[in-house]
Amino acid sequence: MTTCRRKSLLKVILLGDSFVGKTSLMNQYVKKQFSNQYKITVGADFLAKDIMIDDRVVTMQIWDTAGQERYKSLHAGYYRAADCCILVYDVTNPKSFESLDMWREEFLIRADPHDPESFPFVLLGNKIDAETNRAVSSRQAQNWCKYKNDMLYYEVSAKEAINVEEGFQAIARNALQRD
Ligand code: GDP
Ligand code: MG
Repeated sequence: MTTCRRKSLLKVILLGDSFVGKTSLMNQYVKKQFSNQYKITVGADFLAKDIMIDDRVVTMQIWDTAGQERYKSLHAGYYRAADCCILVYDVTNPKSFESLDMWREEFLIRADPHDPESFPFVLLGNKIDAETNRAVSSRQAQNWCKYKNDMLYYEVSAKEAINVEEGFQAIARNALQRD
């Protein structure tokens, strides 16, 4: 460890095509709720959750878009001072997987982190409950991550609450590494 500055507030932002389940993942993680109805996200910019990491309490602010991802028109404040960027795709939708490069680039351009090479991203492949409609294999996703500086990858389901807790815990840990 080279530094000892301790952060107690982490800003993590969600990015990915619309309909991949960004809002559902946040709601499942923070509120333990899931809805099958598609609602364009409105209201607050983020939800906050206090979590324990190695005996310390950290407040994780999870920022969700209000549907502007369709137009790539997220305001500058969305990206500002993010500690971790969560990229989300839908394992049943290849197009959402193909968009990942664009979202990653978009983040790097708009957030302009000091050290883009080591900035913590985490990839979530959502909707693994819909196994029969699966269109992107784990292997494809792992391979993509490998070439993106070994990005962490979790396969999750907001609907069935599979791996959501683990995924966000890894996100928090990853964001804290920048301390
Ligand atoms: P967003 O546009 O990325 O915020 O996506 P939403 O969270 O609004 O979800 C889009 C649609 O996918 C909604 O109809 C959700 O009910 C559905 N959905 C989200 N997560 C899952 C999941 O894990 N499994 C399945 N089967 N459907 C999901
Ligand atoms: Mg949404």
